Amino acid sequence: MLSRLSFDTITTDDISFLFADRQTEVHVLRLDKLHPIISGNKWFKLRYYLEEALALGKTGIITFGGAWSNHIVAAAAACRSLGLRATGIIRGKRPAILSSTLREAERWGMQLVFITRAEYRDKYIPPALLTPDDYTIPEGGYGLPGARGAAAITGEAPGDYTHYCCAAGTGTMMAGLIMAGQPSRQVIGIPVLKNKTELEKNIAQLLPASLQHRVATPGWQLIDEYHFGGYAKCNASLTGFMNDFYRQTGIPSDFVYTGKLFYGITELIRNGFFAPGSRLLIVHSGGLQGNASLPKGMLIF
Ligand SMILES: *Cc1c(COP(=O)(O)O)cnc(C)c1O
Repeated sequence: MLSRLSFDTITTDDISFLFADRQTEVHVLRLDKLHPIISGNKWFKLRYYLEEALALGKTGIITFGGAWSNHIVAAAAACRSLGLRATGIIRGKRPAILSSTLREAERWGMQLVFITRAEYRDKYIPPALLTPDDYTIPEGGYGLPGARGAAAITGEAPGDYTHYCCAAGTGTMMAGLIMAGQPSRQVIGIPVLKNKTELEKNIAQLLPASLQHRVATPGWQLIDEYHFGGYAKCNASLTGFMNDFYRQTGIPSDFVYTGKLFYGITELIRNGFFAPGSRLLIVHSGGLQGNASLPKGMLIF
C-alpha cells in the first residue's frame, strides 16, 4: 500500500576533499532529496506506524508537533497519499498567521488542533478526537516502530563505513542506526537539544539489552557540545558555517538539526576525534523546510 508514494533517488555525496589532511573519508547520505515534503528521516520513522494503522483498519492518524515540525508536515503528506485522515495536535495558541509548515500541512488536508503548552506537555488529546478509527503516532515518531523504520536508512548506503553520524532529537533515528550498524560500526549522535542524559536513556530504551550501554568501539556515543544552547537555538557562527559548507560542498542544511550535525562532525574530524583511515557516513536527515522560520537573507541557499 505504501508503494502509492513515489520517491526520488537518494545519492551519497563524497565530501572527503574537505578533510584530505585528516585521511578521513566522509560521505553524506542525502535523505533530504527523498521527497519535497516527506523529506529525510521522517518517512523512514513513519512507515511502520502507517503500515500498522492501515493493517488495523484505521481511517485516520493523530500526531503531535510544534509550529515548524518536520514530523507534522511529513505525516500530513504521507497520510494524504495513503488516503488516511490526519490530525495534528499543535503546541500553543493558533497564531493569526500560520507558519509555512502548518500552512503546508493544512494544504495536504491535515486538521490542526491547537492546545496549550501545558496540555501539550501531558500529550493531551481532546476527547472528541479520540475515536476508535484513529491511530496515534507519538511525537517525533519516538518508539520501536520508528526506530525499526530508521534502521532501513543504512540500506540506502551499503558502503563499508566505520562510523554513522547523525543528529539526535528524540533519538529514534539514532537507535535505528545503532540496531542496523552493529556489530562493526560506531554510531555518533549530535544532540540538538540540551537533554543528553534523558536522550541517552530514551535511546537505550529502544535497544536490545546487549546494545544499551555500549559506549566503547563499536558502540554508540552522544557528543553534547553542538546544540548551540538548545532546540532551534541558532547564532551567527552556525549560519556562517552552514553558508560556508554550502559554498564548499553544494549541500544545504537546516539550522535545527543537520547544520549542527555538520558543524559538530567537521570540528570533531579537525580535532582528530576519528582515527586516520576512518570512513564516515553522515546522514543528512532533511528538514530544510524549517529554514523558512529564519529571517530572509541569513542563508545563501
Ligand atoms: C526529526 C529530525 C531529526 C531527529 O530525529 P530523531 O529520530 O527524533 O532523533 C533529525 N534531523 C531532521 C532533519 C529531523 O527532521
